[in-house]
Amino acid sequence: MKIIAANFKMNGDREFVDNWFQNFDADTENLVVVGLPAIYLESSVQNFNKSHFKIAAQNVSKFNNPGAYTGQMSSAMLNDVGVEFCIVGHSEAREHLCEDNQSVYEKYSCLKSFSITPIVCIGESLEVREANNHLDFISDQIEKFNTAEDKIIFAYEPIWAIGTGLVPTQEQIEEMSSHIKSHFSQQVTVLYGGSVNSKNSSEILNMNNIDGVLVGGASLNAEEFANIAQS
Ligand code: PEP
Repeated sequence: MKIIAANFKMNGDREFVDNWFQNFDADTENLVVVGLPAIYLESSVQNFNKSHFKIAAQNVSKFNNPGAYTGQMSSAMLNDVGVEFCIVGHSEAREHLCEDNQSVYEKYSCLKSFSITPIVCIGESLEVREANNHLDFISDQIEKFNTAEDKIIFAYEPIWAIGTGLVPTQEQIEEMSSHIKSHFSQQVTVLYGGSVNSKNSSEILNMNNIDGVLVGGASLNAEEFANIAQS
C-alpha cells in the first residue's frame, strides 16, 4: 500500500470541492489523503473520510494551548473535527510564512500529542542542489526528528521540482529517500513530491524506498488524481 496525497493549496471553492469529491472515483488499495483548505475540512471529514480515504489539513499552529493566537488553528481543533493528517513545513509556508526547522518541529510535536499524522515537507532549492549540498541540507531539516517514534511521514519535495514540470532522476530521488531513511532506526515513510502527474506516477511509485507521492497541481483534477491513485 502506498500513500497518494493531494495538496489543493489555496485553490477551489465550496462548489469545486464538492464536484471534486463527486468526480474522484478510484479503485485502489492505496491510502488516499487529500489536503484541503482549512474551511472545507470539517464537512469533508464528515462526508468523505473512510478507511482508505482521509482528509488532511495543510498547516497547523505551533502553539498547543488555546489562547491569544489570532488566525491560528490548533491540533486540538483539527482533532476535534476528525482530521487525521496534516501537512507541515511546505516550502511555500517556509517561504511565505517564515516557517523554519524549529517551528516545523514544534508543529509536528503538537500534532503528535493529538495522534494526528504529520506530513513533514522537506526539500532543497536548485542553488543548494547545484552546490552539491543537498544531502547536508536535508540532514539539517530532519535533524530534530531523530527521536521520532512511530507515525511520521516525510515528503521530499525539491523546491525546483514544485510546479515546474521538472522531476529529479530516479537516482536523485532514490539517493534522497535512502538518505532520509538512514537517519532513523525505525521505519519512516517517505513520499516524493514535485510535478507528479499520471504519466510519471507509476515510475516514481515503483522506485526503491518511495512510499508514495504528494501531488499539488495535478491533484486539482479529480480524474487525473484518480489515475495517479490507481497507478
Ligand atoms: C506541492 O506543492 O506539494 C507539489 C508537489 O506541487 P506540484 O505537484 O504542483 O509540483
